[in-house]
Amino acid sequence: MSEVSKEVLERIEKLREEIEYHNYRYYVLNDPVITDQEYDELMRELIELEEKYPELKTPDSPTQRVGGKVSEGFEKVKHSVRMLSLDNTYSEEELRKFDERIKKALEVDKVDYVVELKIDGFAVALRYKEGKFEMGLTRGDGITGEDITENLKTVRSIPLRLRKKVDIEVRGEVYMPKDEFERINRERMKEGLPLFANPRNAAAGTMRQLDSSEVARRKLDSFIYSIVYPGNYGLKTQKEILEFLKSAGFKVNPNYMVTERVEDIIDYWNYWIENRKKLEYNIDGLVIKVNSIEYQNLLGETAKSPRWAIAFKFPAEQVRTKIIDVTVQVGRTGVLTPVAELEPVKLAGTTVKRASLHNFDYIKMKDIRIGDTVLIEKAGEIIPQVVKPVVELREGKEKEIKIPESCPVCGGKVGKLKEDEVAIRCLNPHCPAKLKRSIEIFVSRDAMNIEGIGEKLIDQLVDNGIVKDIADIYYLTPFDLIPLERMGPKAAANILKAIEESKKAPLHKLITALGIPFVGSKTALVLAQHFKTLDNLSKATYEELINIEGIGDEIAKSIVEYFSSEKTREIIAKLKKAGVNMCEELEESEDQPLKGLKFVVTGTLKNYSRSEIQDLIRKKGGIVSESVSRKTDYLILGENPGSKYQKALQFGVKIITEEEFEKMLENK
Ligand code: NAD
Repeated sequence: MSEVSKEVLERIEKLREEIEYHNYRYYVLNDPVITDQEYDELMRELIELEEKYPELKTPDSPTQRVGGKVSEGFEKVKHSVRMLSLDNTYSEEELRKFDERIKKALEVDKVDYVVELKIDGFAVALRYKEGKFEMGLTRGDGITGEDITENLKTVRSIPLRLRKKVDIEVRGEVYMPKDEFERINRERMKEGLPLFANPRNAAAGTMRQLDSSEVARRKLDSFIYSIVYPGNYGLKTQKEILEFLKSAGFKVNPNYMVTERVEDIIDYWNYWIENRKKLEYNIDGLVIKVNSIEYQNLLGETAKSPRWAIAFKFPAEQVRTKIIDVTVQVGRTGVLTPVAELEPVKLAGTTVKRASLHNFDYIKMKDIRIGDTVLIEKAGEIIPQVVKPVVELREGKEKEIKIPESCPVCGGKVGKLKEDEVAIRCLNPHCPAKLKRSIEIFVSRDAMNIEGIGEKLIDQLVDNGIVKDIADIYYLTPFDLIPLERMGPKAAANILKAIEESKKAPLHKLITALGIPFVGSKTALVLAQHFKTLDNLSKATYEELINIEGIGDEIAKSIVEYFSSEKTREIIAKLKKAGVNMCEELEESEDQPLKGLKFVVTGTLKNYSRSEIQDLIRKKGGIVSESVSRKTDYLILGENPGSKYQKALQFGVKIITEEEFEKMLENK
């Protein structure tokens, strides 16, 4: 064997191995460690090598297969027709070549294309029988998918009944709108959970949750763009498919065009590079499809993708800058997150000074050093992240980024909670970094709702050693508060009053306030309604917990662990002694003007947080529901209402303002 072919052989092996690894991170873990463009470059190199040395092509090469995997936990179902990927390109030149190839193969000199937006989501297949939604599948490995019907039912824009009574299978994309992605990542940041790299991984991660009530909490949406066997419905073009889908009741993306000119496609591509930010969802390019189905059938497909379509992807928004330093943040659950402090640089319209380095494994894998010139990118156009160092620009003075030997906040020990966990945490349960966040959560509106205790005050209380755990809040005196900055006797009195008032909060608020990892306000409500008292909850076993609807393995374990800690017992004893309510039964108010009435709330209200108004409704005898149905009596309308507003109009539900709601309370 010659020297060159040995090198080629090794390179091919290495590329295959790397691509498989990244497929695993991307499709199974939903946690990629390289950008899509970097991945596509690896794939391109492999394709080129395999084209040059066809004898080295193997059927199991990643170039020959759709990249996804079928994961455990869901029933596996074979696809009626294979679900393929798309060939992709980032260059105008290759797009022209694609057009040439198509015309040559069809022996024609003009072809109509439909140009659609490439939704950065998660591919699904939806099966309907006589117009009724029967089953929904993931793409899986393209041949076999996972049955995620229950999860798909929670996506509002997926019709459960069509406007046509047909047997049909359609395909499209489930995606996470940008603001929902930001909300979830903010929440995950608070909880100390790893962040989703982009909305696509977030949508995929969500759809693979086994607990569909958890899926329902995340507001996913959909666009449908294809039909299996379109000829059965008399459809002859992709354009007709889109129109048919729309008339059947599916959500179809309104932004598409039909053209025969490559120049038009390039103009459209440039237009969307400029304007993609205005969309509420992410797109990562355009998809160009031969319009005629007859032509599509003639062109056929490869093992991996149809020959009649191509993804024309947008270039990633990346810039270069320098890492001046790396700081380490300690999250509420103690996770140490390295953050790159950068030479300020403009990226996608904002000045970026800091970027995420994810975790220490990521730094090691990419060999990122302090002083490096690095590429940074807005992941999913939102959180800037360091993509990779530009190794050629190293001067030799760059410094290795080390895992801190101790917690940068409290000096406590650091380490992993579990062997297989990536995150490194501060192991000191009383670390002030965790305490400050815990207090913020404890006093927040959804929890004990203690007004007047903000970030600055919390800093002072913790830094001066006045509050050493959350229960200490109930032992504060005017003597503790008055000497503090920006505090006078009146402000102190108001805070103490709010603290006193909070002792009456129902149990679900207290559970939320404790900040048990993975237990948010909705889970807290489920727990409170089930166990009725904190005592009962604290004695619950894993088996008991896991049997409650909405409580999964992670949550159950976390609760058991939380209540088994000595410190927790101490805190609860202190709370009890201070007279904090530990039961769920709300004292029923005597007047029940809303008795039996069903309410839904939408938008931002002036005088109440969402949970405040919901508690008030319940207290006054009303019933709170999350979604509008024909049975809803009233929709309370706030600013910037969501889709519930449209639903209420559609169902003729009475719509009232916050003021009208308050009048209802007075009138009776
Ligand atoms: P893809 O996302 O590039 O394109 C195919 C998919 O596009 C289809 O399956 C479909 O779900 C979707 N799509 C969106 N809008 C569409 C429309 N209007 N019409 C038709 N299809 C539409 O391909 P893929 O196989 O899903 O994923 C491969 C890509 O994923 C790679 O090219 C790479 O960018 C990325 N990836 C990245 C990593 C990483 O580590 N960063 C790893 C694996 C894959």
